[in-house]
Amino acid sequence: MTGGISEILEDYRLSEIRIGTIGSHSALNIFKGARDEGFETVCICREKDAIIYERFKIADNYIFVERFSDLLNGEVQEKLRKLNTILIPHGSFNAYISSEELVEELKVPLFGNRQLLAWETSREKQDEWLRKAGLTLPKVFRNPEEIDRLTVVKFPGARGGKGYFLVNSPEDFHAKTEEMLKRGVISREDLEKAHLQEYVVGVNLYPQYFRSMVRGEVELLGFDRRYESTADGIGRIPANVQLEAKVNLTYTVVGNFPLTVRESLLSDYLRMGDRVAEASCEIAPPGIIGPFCLETMVTEDLKIYCFEISARIVAGTNVGIGTSPYAYLLHGSEMYMGRRIAREIKEARERNLLKKVLT
Ligand code: AMP
Ligand code: AMP
Repeated sequence: MTGGISEILEDYRLSEIRIGTIGSHSALNIFKGARDEGFETVCICREKDAIIYERFKIADNYIFVERFSDLLNGEVQEKLRKLNTILIPHGSFNAYISSEELVEELKVPLFGNRQLLAWETSREKQDEWLRKAGLTLPKVFRNPEEIDRLTVVKFPGARGGKGYFLVNSPEDFHAKTEEMLKRGVISREDLEKAHLQEYVVGVNLYPQYFRSMVRGEVELLGFDRRYESTADGIGRIPANVQLEAKVNLTYTVVGNFPLTVRESLLSDYLRMGDRVAEASCEIAPPGIIGPFCLETMVTEDLKIYCFEISARIVAGTNVGIGTSPYAYLLHGSEMYMGRRIAREIKEARERNLLKKVLT
C-alpha cells in the first residue's frame, strides 16, 4: 500500500465506508453489490448519465462532474474522502484517465493494485505478464514483411476494435494500409504503433476471476462473450453483398452474453487464472487484488489463445448481476462480481486487513 493512501485510511471512519465508482461501464454491478453487502454508494457521474443510476435507484450519493477525468480534481477527491469512499476501478478509469494520473494523482483509497492497472494499458507489458504466466499467445509480427497467415492489425488505445482490419500477406498489408491512409481512416502515426497479431480462428471466451487476499484463493466466477458490431453482424449479409458494399470488419462492443463452457475446459481455465495471479506477484507485489479477466479465443481443437488481460472488473461480469452458474457453485445464490468485491472489503474490514486490498 502506498504511503499516502495508508495515512488517508487512518482518517477514515471504517464503520461508514462507502463504495464509489465512476458512473459507467460496470457501475450498476458494483453499486448493487455494495448495497447487498450493506454499504452506501457514491456515484461520480455526468448529469446526462444520472438517469441510469436514478432509475435503478442504486446511488446514495452523487458527485456530478463534466468529464470523468474531473475525478482527479482536488475538490472531488476531498468530497470522496469526506464520504470515507473506497473507489472501485473499472474500464472507464483506464479509458478516460491516464495510468500515471491514476497512480500519482488519485489520493483516494482504491480497491485493487494500481501498478497493474498501469500494466494493463501497455500491450507489451500485458504480453510480458501473460507469457510469464505461461499462457499461449497469438503470434506477434514485429514487421509487416513477416506476415505469413491471417493477421489482425490493431491500434493502441480504447478504441473498441475500431479500425482493426485483417490482412494475410505483406502485400495485402501494404495495399490495405495505403487505402486506409488515403481515406483518412488511420494516420501515419497510428500505423507506426500498429500491433500485428495472428488472427486466431475460433470463438471468443472471456473468463472472469477474483483473487481474494482475505481468503488466499483465486476464484473463477463466470464467463461471457462479447456482442461486437460489425463482427457479429457481418454474417447476416451474404458474402457477395459484403464484397460489393465493402463492409468493414470492426469490433465495437455493444453488449455481452453469459456463457458456460465445456466442463473439460475448466481445468485449463482454472490453472490459467492461478498462473496469471502468480505471475502478477512477481511483476507488481503483492500481485493482482480482486477482479481480473482474460480475453481468449478457443480453436476447433480446443486450444486456448489469450490475447488480453484486464486487471480490474470487466463489463462482461454484468451478465452475472444476480448470479452466474460458476459464482453459484462457489458461493450459492446471489453472488456476482460487484458483490464479491464488496464482500472482500467487508471481510477485510472485519479482520483488519483493509491495507492488504487497497492501494
Ligand atoms: P462507456 O462508459 O460505455 O464509454 O465505456 C467505458 C469504457 O469501457 C470504454 O473504453 C468501453 O470501450 C469499455 N466498455 C464498456 N462496456 C464494455 C463492455 N461491455 N465490454 C468491454 N468493454 C466495455
Ligand atoms: P481487443 O481490442 O484486443 O479487445 O479486440 C477486440 C476484438 O477483436 C475481440 O473481442 C475479438 O473478437 C477480436 N480479436 C482480437 N484479437 C484477436 C485475435 N488475435 N484473433 C481473433 N480475434 C481477435
